[in-house]
Amino acid sequence: MSCGQHFKVAIIGGGPAGIGVAVGLAKRGIGPVVLIERRAEVGGTPMGYRKKPGGVPTFVEWTRGRVVFGEELAGRMAKRLAKTDTTIRLSAQVTQIDPAEKRLTLLWPEGVCDVTADAVVLAAGAREQTPAEKGWLAGARTARVGFTRHITGWLDGHGLLPARKPVVVGSDLIAYSAAAKLRAAGSDKPVMIDRRRSPSAGLFERLFFRRWTRPDWSGDVTAAGIKGDRSAAGVQSSDGQDWHGDGVMICGELVPNTELALLGGLAVELPSRQLQLARGQALSEPGWFAAGNVLGGFHGAQWCYFNGRQAARRVANFLE
Ligand SMILES: Cc1cc2nc3c(=O)[nH]c(=O)nc-3n(C[C@H](O)[C@H](O)[C@H](O)COP(=O)(O)OP(=O)(O)OC[C@H]3O[C@@H](n4cnc5c(N)ncnc54)[C@H](O)[C@@H]3O)c2cc1C
Repeated sequence: MSCGQHFKVAIIGGGPAGIGVAVGLAKRGIGPVVLIERRAEVGGTPMGYRKKPGGVPTFVEWTRGRVVFGEELAGRMAKRLAKTDTTIRLSAQVTQIDPAEKRLTLLWPEGVCDVTADAVVLAAGAREQTPAEKGWLAGARTARVGFTRHITGWLDGHGLLPARKPVVVGSDLIAYSAAAKLRAAGSDKPVMIDRRRSPSAGLFERLFFRRWTRPDWSGDVTAAGIKGDRSAAGVQSSDGQDWHGDGVMICGELVPNTELALLGGLAVELPSRQLQLARGQALSEPGWFAAGNVLGGFHGAQWCYFNGRQAARRVANFLE
């Protein structure tokens, strides 16, 4: 891909949603299309959830009626993408957008580059909030304080156990999945705390993970602090309750990845960071669309793929 190139459609993000958009556009014969992904491979968040013996599969593949490892699911999506003529730009991060000109500025190993398009789809996913943003968990980010993506990296990427006695902060599906993975990798039974009175994961989700662990639950924790100077030693609540551990794993509470939209002046609601939609998946600026978890609501990977396919239909209507 050369700098200054013009495409019919540019897709920001190569996760399930971005892949769905590219596959949907290819089926409609729309091109040229560029998909820009800041990581070295496509597949997005699920790709980091590697398949391994004794591991915990956490991605529902509804079309096959089973739960699989993220890598398997994302791998199948990536194969579908490979059959299209999409230009795939890896290790390239979109750092700035000009919504009116539909111009994207990319930072890639070779330098800085601009591309333009007739339509752009934002499929940048979601991210976990920082402890500071969460507001109720004070304390320094010492060693052995990690987010879900760190836990995944340690366990799935490097085969390392980040904590033998983990304290899991959060109680949604992602928190239960992290607790199960830690236990399956050899940790003690995890402690799980949240400010909610009862876990936010649904009953079926909790039952699914019970095969690996049933964390010791403490709800209604109004404010808490991470203990430990050099390395995490647990969590203490403002009313003096103590949860000892040698690692604090902060999970869940995702926010849409809308920094680019904010930077470029697309309409975004604050503090929720939700994109303001003009209609369907169309954004405030004509020719701009969104797909997948960047829309908020936080759906499974396969839902995001099909949502991407749906966005392709809307883009095709716009381009007609
Ligand atoms: C921490 C975490 C853990 C999760 N765990 C589970 C689980 O166990 N089970 C489950 O079913 N679901 C899980 N999910 C949800 C699942 O990953 C999503 O449903 C799905 O991946 C969303 O697809 P997406 O394409 O919208 O976003 P993503 O898969 O996040 O893909 C977005 C892509 O956009 C790229 N990107 C972002 N910004 C830029 C930019 N500026 N320039 C270039 N590229 C960019 C990112 O690198 C990423 O590859 C988890 C999500 C998160 C965030």
